[in-house]
Amino acid sequence: MNHPERSITPTNQADWQAMADQLTLESRAYVNGAYQWAVNGQTFPCISPVNGRELTQVASCDQADADLAVDAARKAFNSGVWSRLAPAKRKAILIRFAELIEDHGDELALLETLDMGKPIGHARSGDVPATARAIRWTAEAIDKVYGELATTAHDQIGMISREPMGVVAAIVPWNFPMIMASWKIAPALATGNSVILKPSEKSPLTAIRLAALAEEAGIPAGVFNVLPGYGHTVGKGLALHMDVDCLVFTGSTNVAKQLMIYAGQSNMKRVWLEAGGKSPNIIFADAPDLKKAAAEAASAIAFNQGEVCTAGSRLLVEDSIRAEFIGLIREALKTWRPGHPLDPATTCGAIVDQAQLDRIIEYIGIGQSEGATLVEGGQRVLEDTGGLFVQPTVFDGVNNGMRIASEEIFGPVLSVIGFTTAEEAITIANDSIYGLAAAVWTSNINTAHKVAKALRAGSVWINHYDGGDMTAPFGGFKQSGNGRDKSLHAFDKYTELKATWLVLE
Ligand code: NAD
Repeated sequence: MNHPERSITPTNQADWQAMADQLTLESRAYVNGAYQWAVNGQTFPCISPVNGRELTQVASCDQADADLAVDAARKAFNSGVWSRLAPAKRKAILIRFAELIEDHGDELALLETLDMGKPIGHARSGDVPATARAIRWTAEAIDKVYGELATTAHDQIGMISREPMGVVAAIVPWNFPMIMASWKIAPALATGNSVILKPSEKSPLTAIRLAALAEEAGIPAGVFNVLPGYGHTVGKGLALHMDVDCLVFTGSTNVAKQLMIYAGQSNMKRVWLEAGGKSPNIIFADAPDLKKAAAEAASAIAFNQGEVCTAGSRLLVEDSIRAEFIGLIREALKTWRPGHPLDPATTCGAIVDQAQLDRIIEYIGIGQSEGATLVEGGQRVLEDTGGLFVQPTVFDGVNNGMRIASEEIFGPVLSVIGFTTAEEAITIANDSIYGLAAAVWTSNINTAHKVAKALRAGSVWINHYDGGDMTAPFGGFKQSGNGRDKSLHAFDKYTELKATWLVLE
């Protein structure tokens, strides 16, 4: 990489702010290799939760734009310009795409922070490299996956190959806009599909910017398109489209269910869903290091303002250490006080928008009226900044049947639930419509493995929270979704299996 024009990463809030003031924001859709406004000419406001100010007006795409993008994607797919390119060539272009993301890391991190409120330090050191890594890892794998030969009789040959699906629509949420997009577009593009990315209306800016970087990397026109807009307009248009072959989604369980209906109402497109969670984090009294467990339990609910699908929002603590552990968590949460998202020292940023803040505040009220004990936080703060901030909040004495324990809040609100035996912990942990992730902390190897096996969740962590990398599949049991992102398993979602059978004469 040799990019002399690249500036030095800002190290303080003033410098990030100065960079923000200089930014030119692209806010149009990207279709068939060009930026363009929505066909209907409409826009929607992009409001920063950092200070409540409008950043820009963004193209508000709808059905007409979906039709254009699907048409371009289909033509590109049929032309073979990408779908029939040798995997090694697709790999080289996608690796260049990852490099360009790294080269523009400051700008992309800043867009993410301004758009959805996460701390700039996390956006820069987490979201940007994770996005580039997802694309690079996937690209590097694509010329190393082989087809199969069936175990046939001597006079027959059965070849089992994978073919790209065709046109893939990817609908993603706002909590990790770039990372969630990369988990979809990397395997979709690597396997030769054409892609239409629909970012959340709450965080469209990085997706729009990625389109230019994809073009610069050499991804041909029509192969990668970005349609900003609302779920009920352009999202629905893509989900119901008769010429979209595969719909991949990360977002809420309610919308995920709706997408399955849309697929059934249209062309039975493949639908792969990563949805909500209410993940249990189980702390046994013999956890190897209670202080570390408390620090990670705090991070599990406060990182990214609790707007994390795998947030450890149900903390199951063995009763004998519950009081002590809550003390340790409250101490640990002191490092998670909300602050200005552009300050590199900030760990807990702004909530994505007013509706989400209202939802979190409402759930804090629900917890109190359900009889749980508020032991930490509970207040909106820093209101004078114009931004949307809430204190990390802890409820003790929670019963798993309470709404704060069963419904996904998607904010920094922790429910502490006591237990006395491993069996009881497992029962409570699995008593959820979700099954995305879970953690267990214990020094006893038998307890660790027995509990890990019994937990109905797509990811289980032992003596830490939120582990994993591109080598491990990610996704949920039950109403947390179907299919898996990341790892070689992700290719299953973007390819059809073909059996070609030959009988030798
Ligand atoms: P959401 O379901 O409201 O929106 C997700 C996306 O779907 C957005 O782009 C939205 O515009 C679109 N959409 C909404 N209605 C639609 C419709 N009728 N047709 C088509 N598209 C539609 O979710 P959100 O608020 O953006 O994100 C938060 C949710 O995402 C939480 O439930 C969280 O758990 C989940 N999430 C899951 C994972 C995971 O990997 N399992 C990761 C991150 C977030």
